[in-house]
Amino acid sequence: MTLKQLVTPVTWHTWLEPLRIEDTEDGVVIVTAPNDFHVRWIRDKHLETIEQAVEASYGEAFDIRLEAQPRSPEDLDVAEDEFATGEHDMRDLPGFPNEAPKYSFENFVVGASNRFAWAAAMAVCEQPGTHYNPLFIYGDAGLGKTHLLKAVAHQVSVLDSRRTVRYVTSEEFFNDFIDGIRRKRMDQFKHTYRTTDVLLIDDVQFFMGKEQILEEFFHTFNSLYDAGKQMVITSDRHPRNSTLPDRLRSRFEWGLLTDIHPPDVETRLAILRTNAAFAPTEIPESVLEFIAGQVSDNIRELEGALTRITAYAALHAENITLDMAQDVLQDLAPRTQPRMLTAEEIIHETAAACDVTPAEVVGSSRRRDYVRGRQIAMYLCRDLTDLSLPKIGAKFGGRDHTTVMHALDRVKKLMASDKEVFDQVTALSQKLRET
Ligand code: ADP
Ligand code: MG
Repeated sequence: MTLKQLVTPVTWHTWLEPLRIEDTEDGVVIVTAPNDFHVRWIRDKHLETIEQAVEASYGEAFDIRLEAQPRSPEDLDVAEDEFATGEHDMRDLPGFPNEAPKYSFENFVVGASNRFAWAAAMAVCEQPGTHYNPLFIYGDAGLGKTHLLKAVAHQVSVLDSRRTVRYVTSEEFFNDFIDGIRRKRMDQFKHTYRTTDVLLIDDVQFFMGKEQILEEFFHTFNSLYDAGKQMVITSDRHPRNSTLPDRLRSRFEWGLLTDIHPPDVETRLAILRTNAAFAPTEIPESVLEFIAGQVSDNIRELEGALTRITAYAALHAENITLDMAQDVLQDLAPRTQPRMLTAEEIIHETAAACDVTPAEVVGSSRRRDYVRGRQIAMYLCRDLTDLSLPKIGAKFGGRDHTTVMHALDRVKKLMASDKEVFDQVTALSQKLRET
């Protein structure tokens, strides 16, 4: 019996076909898989089957050693491009999420702080609608909730492309709903949301206090639940600590509630190493350790610190050293009183620094200095607030999330090539953090 005959076609295509037998030596067969995630998955789920098949074909038992295939430089380039565009694109192709390598399981570092949420999310991908329904993940900003949700979206469709998956922020759900009412297309809204196999709703705390949408969401929930469709929901707090209606809160508790904590230092280091692998220059371990010690309770800030250091090094065409990292991050010493800045505050300060008005920053003119101020302000909103890309777009005169994405990309590149921009962004960021 061959391996292919031992498993379902989906498992074969997704998991087993990409494996390669590299070598056999002294009773050990070395098998390579495309990446670490793949290796883990095979080890957990299919190792025994592979052992059986190997024994059947070689006539004796072998130990299987699983390894990830080394990435080629071309792969890394592609990954970086997708890195820049992989976010929020899924809605453009309902039901067929794009490849989103940044927000994939492959790039999700598992540690004590998120292991449970991660395992539950993986289980949901394997058999949607059966184990934990709904799966409710809560935790503070910047700890990986959106990352997990998008990883589920991606993974579900990889495992079975016939399944319809829909990732939406609560705000997008809300907007679709309003749109449905306004255009008298509620049937379409209901059809879209109630026939999805896997519905992923991000930041459900946004619904609090909005009666009409809560009512609609309640019906959507019931209808999906009764049909055995999977839901995964995230929030910044436990349902018990929210002002959501009781009937909804109790439904959230029908499934599995799990939280994500701030990462411990090993996990922070592992996340930095993953990110460092994408960086154009070598980043010494001592620098990664330094960053991991500086930033502790928000992974977005952790990544931001690394970006800043790589940008600085590229700008000055220097190698990254610990001294340099300490210098660059000096301004980012832990905030004494963490406080969420608002987009308005950021726009105001940026406008002042760029010698334009806040109205010009959010306005539609494409004058060079306005555009520069606009892009920097968008970048700082991403860096210093918890706002999603669509929300940032909304704060800047209702711009699309792809415009915001482009702005972030642009500022990152400018920071690495133009000293004036680097200094301006650093000074603004420092000032805003101190307010
Ligand atoms: P949240 O939705 O909880 O506010 P995000 O999912 O947006 O947080 O995560 C913030 C940033 O940190 C993202 O860039 C995400 O990719 C990264 N991140 C979070 N958790 C992990 C993890 N476990 N491994 C790797 N990157 C992570
Ligand atoms: Mg989020």
